[in-house]
Amino acid sequence: MEEKVIKAATVIITAISIIVAGTLLFFPQLHIRAEENRELRAQEAIERKENMDALEMLQYNTANVDSQEGISFDQQLRIALPENVTPEDVSVENDYLTQTIIIKIPGADENYLYNYPMIGKSYHIDNLTYESESEYGVIEISLDSVVELQKTSDEHYIYMDFLTPHEVYDKVVVIDAGHGGNAPGATKQGINEKDIDLAIVLKVKELFDEAGDESVGVYYTRTDDSNPSLEQRVDMANKAGADLFISVHNNSTKSGRMSSINGTAVMYDEEKASEENGSMQLAQICLEEMTAALGSTSKGIVKGHEIYIIRTAEMPVALIEVGFMTNQDELNRLNDEAYQKEAAQAIYNAIYRAFQEGY
Ligand SMILES: [Zn+2]
Repeated sequence: MEEKVIKAATVIITAISIIVAGTLLFFPQLHIRAEENRELRAQEAIERKENMDALEMLQYNTANVDSQEGISFDQQLRIALPENVTPEDVSVENDYLTQTIIIKIPGADENYLYNYPMIGKSYHIDNLTYESESEYGVIEISLDSVVELQKTSDEHYIYMDFLTPHEVYDKVVVIDAGHGGNAPGATKQGINEKDIDLAIVLKVKELFDEAGDESVGVYYTRTDDSNPSLEQRVDMANKAGADLFISVHNNSTKSGRMSSINGTAVMYDEEKASEENGSMQLAQICLEEMTAALGSTSKGIVKGHEIYIIRTAEMPVALIEVGFMTNQDELNRLNDEAYQKEAAQAIYNAIYRAFQEGY
């Protein structure tokens, strides 16, 4: 019996020894295999990322960080700075008219987003692309709203908060200088309507800039000789959530011939005329302020629903026809800087009066 037990024990011990020895021999291979699996998974992740566009990568990276660190990046984007690039080297351009942000990062190559993941989210981001050019990496962000960017930075990152105009200002106004570029509007004796419209609006801008009222945000559809489309002009007002939309033009007779007809008229949306604090009252305020300041003839408020920017603006809108370019006296005055300044002051006053009256 004892012999049998010893034999059996020997067999068992030998078997165990063989298994242990085999496992020990095999163990390093198991280890290598685990390592290989990790590398494979990393490779797969990179391939997955390579198939992602910049927006998908942003969402992917943000979701990972969110779940790992419990950090929330609501309405904020974090952009990583490449080696030797300071926050000051990065240019950020925020185009209110097209609701596009362009960020140029020096030295960022085609692998920038892999090496320096961008993190964050905003419900205002419609699309986001990345392209590397010779000297810069360019991030382009399309937005569904006019946004104000609030930037902060440290040595590794730039942080950008996306705020709507109304999150920054109590009141928001969009001011539109008519025509522009190769669309001069009325042209009389070498004087273009577009230039007078712009001159007046730039003087309104000077008044707002000098006053520095931080409770009022003012946006301009153009401040140079550009010609935004009508859609862009209205879009800007609608996407800024503007409280008021003021468009500045100058008049001419239907025939375009010089005549005695002169004076200031303001167009409004008669379809929304019954609304309290609507387009009609705003037009009336503008008309009163303009004629009082300029001493011009009142041509009254005029129905303007058929005008695209009036019809499609989602807020009270007034289209001011400051004067007639087809009237010699008025043309001379409109072309005079002092008169333009008075018109600008009247528009500025009309905007504040509208606020006082509850707009
Ligand atoms: Zn015009």
